[in-house]
Amino acid sequence: MKGRILGMDASTPWQRTARAAGLLGPSGQLSPTIFAEMSALASATGAINLGQGFPDEDGPADVLEAARRAIAEGANQYPPGRGIPDLRAAIAEHQQRFYGLTVDPEREICVTAGATEALAAAILAYCGPGDEIVVFEPYYDAYAALAGLSGAQLVPVPLRFPDFQPDEADIRAAVTDRTRLILVNTPHNPTGTVFGPETLAVILEAAERADALVVTDEVYEHLTFGSAHVPLSTLPGAAERVITISSAGKTFSTTGWKIGWVTASAGLLDPIVTVKQFLTYVNGAPFQPAIAAGLRLPDTFFEGAADALGEKRDILSAGLRAAGFAVSNPAGSYFVIADAAPLGVTDAADLCRRLPELVGVVGIPVSAFVSADHAGDYRSLIRFAFCKKRDVLTQASARLAQLGTALET
Ligand SMILES: *Cc1c(COP(=O)(O)O)cnc(C)c1O
Repeated sequence: MKGRILGMDASTPWQRTARAAGLLGPSGQLSPTIFAEMSALASATGAINLGQGFPDEDGPADVLEAARRAIAEGANQYPPGRGIPDLRAAIAEHQQRFYGLTVDPEREICVTAGATEALAAAILAYCGPGDEIVVFEPYYDAYAALAGLSGAQLVPVPLRFPDFQPDEADIRAAVTDRTRLILVNTPHNPTGTVFGPETLAVILEAAERADALVVTDEVYEHLTFGSAHVPLSTLPGAAERVITISSAGKTFSTTGWKIGWVTASAGLLDPIVTVKQFLTYVNGAPFQPAIAAGLRLPDTFFEGAADALGEKRDILSAGLRAAGFAVSNPAGSYFVIADAAPLGVTDAADLCRRLPELVGVVGIPVSAFVSADHAGDYRSLIRFAFCKKRDVLTQASARLAQLGTALET
């Protein structure tokens, strides 16, 4: 089998969490995440930070205004446990409008503190020691940490530069009767790849064979640059095993608001709600009506957001290519992957630590998104975020153009 099971020998939940996230050293000391290290480096050197994926511009004015109005009108106490009825109605309308999915706002939707809490509640509700969670590697860093917290083991299916599409045989080999859950993130962070309907069908079929659940992370659902996003939950037979997670943060450039949601059949959702109740209980009372307004914005908003981001992808990709990197062609998300090998660089983590001083730009080595065992397969790759103002990306490109010369001296 391709996906080797990752070792888990730490004893307490926090140690398992930290170890799974690669933050626990051999003698038990905690190290900061690469994101914290790179952001500190960016502010110390004044470099352009294309490390962390958050936009540097505000989202739609109507959505921001709706939150201010909600505070003024007194939406400042605990909202209902599953979210305010108007937001749940707006999520149901959204699923119908974009995907033709019928979701019951009373029993099949729960609003969460971002997609992160939905992921945590789903994993903690269903996974424990002895269970395996199949993920596509590289993966969003919270997946490994949450698997570690639950006691379950991560089984990675590799995605490879430059198109990062999974191999069907690798999926079939990774999913066994030990698999409790398959975690599917499309559009994908960190690679920007988008899984097509055929791949989704292979995943669902593997889940059915193993009687496993599927949890989808669709936070970039509206940020695709070609074919539209296809939720796994639209496939026949999905209702009995697919748990769908999304969030407002990326779509509306409100990553700090932490409004997410999970939709699933009542039978699958109730255990998740039970856990969620005792994680945060509720969050973001005045942001909930604002996101309801956002989800009801006309199609032109959603198309405009994707088009604008696609242009930004093109600006940064061209800059990276001109600088001498080999560059992926992301079909969605905030991110592009650059291979530093053509520049004669084999260790991207080392280059990322030097990049702020060399040319004044920050990126994140892709090795931060893979298990320690597999870091070697991704050694020369860097993730850059293009969810920044166009002139910031143009300036970053100009700086990166100096990289060849800087590396020679
Ligand atoms: C940003 C992100 C999240 C976190 O979403 P929140 O709503 O901020 O919790 C989850 N998954 C992926 C893949 C992300 O990129």
